[in-house]
Amino acid sequence: MASNAPKTTVFETMSALARELGAINLGQGFPEMEEPPELIAAAQRALAERSNQYPPMRGLPELRGAIRDYYARTQGLEIADDGVIVTSGGTEALAASLLALVRPGDEVILVQPLYDAYLPLIEWAGGRAKFISLTPPDWAFPLAALAAAIGPETRGIVLNTPNNPVGTMLGRSMLEAIGTLAQAHDLWVLCDEVWEGMVFDGTAHVSPLAIPALAERAIKIGSAGKIFSMTGWKVGWAVAAPALAAQIAARHQFLTFTTATPLQWAVADAFALPQHWHSAHLARYQAAKARLVDGLTAAGFAVLPASGTWFITIDLAGSGLPADDAAVAERLLRQAGVASIPVSAFYAEKAEHGFLRLCFTKQPEVIDQAIERLAQFRRTG
Ligand code: GLN
Repeated sequence: MASNAPKTTVFETMSALARELGAINLGQGFPEMEEPPELIAAAQRALAERSNQYPPMRGLPELRGAIRDYYARTQGLEIADDGVIVTSGGTEALAASLLALVRPGDEVILVQPLYDAYLPLIEWAGGRAKFISLTPPDWAFPLAALAAAIGPETRGIVLNTPNNPVGTMLGRSMLEAIGTLAQAHDLWVLCDEVWEGMVFDGTAHVSPLAIPALAERAIKIGSAGKIFSMTGWKVGWAVAAPALAAQIAARHQFLTFTTATPLQWAVADAFALPQHWHSAHLARYQAAKARLVDGLTAAGFAVLPASGTWFITIDLAGSGLPADDAAVAERLLRQAGVASIPVSAFYAEKAEHGFLRLCFTKQPEVIDQAIERLAQFRRTG
């Protein structure tokens, strides 16, 4: 039977191969570090003492309040009481939002490299994508290309800051410029901000919701999995002005309806952890990042700077390797036992893009072993 189903994601494929081959998995982004004991204890308490039955469809009021407080404290955002929808991870928040926003025939502007869920979700909603691209090595946002891409059918833009895979961020003045365009052309802006808590170079995270021109037309996607390193909990959310949030809730109710009640309680408790908990958590991740960056740099790899996310990217040609990133990723996995993600997987058209994404959220000895394998691979190709 003919099928137009999207193929299995590169993250799932690489993780499955890494398991099968017993490789070190620096592909799919998930931590293999100590999991925060405070969160495990909170989940155990929630299972035993709170509720295991349906929460309200939009999420536990306690969690929605905790999310609003967190964003007020960390990003100065004033979010309305009915502006938060708790979802089963960031991916469901993206799906509910795009199903709410995109009408058949709508054109949506996507920025490459792009997370692989955006395009199929837009197409499921009946929309079409138009692509603009960040350009290496600095991956600066192409504002002029965005302005030129907006046409009569354009209804929205999908942004991602900090960017997966390249780790760059959108500053306030760029978001203001995007806001001016969005307002002039009456566009919505969906912003994937799941990496907002994982910024290592002190760059301030700015949400489009903080930009007056975008406050009513932006949707912010967030993820407890990323903030608290619990990717398997699948607790995420969408935040928007109440009218937009109501439209997202209308889709969420028929996608998953709710997400696991005890885990919502546990995340609500986690948001009560003091700021120094977040600083200490971030410092552990920063140390892991420095270990991988320093080791690879010493081994002759060209590592690109990245402000945030759990990833670094290496420039293959600059590292003395062939630029066909998909082929290099395959050989690296099969010959050297290290799984990575080729950056070409973040582009709609298949072409080589010359960069590999590596996830650094691993134990020191795993990072050291990966560096050794990568160094050997580079020497012997
Ligand atoms: N966000 C994760 C990554 O970029 C992947 C999540 C998933 O596999 N769906 O690695």
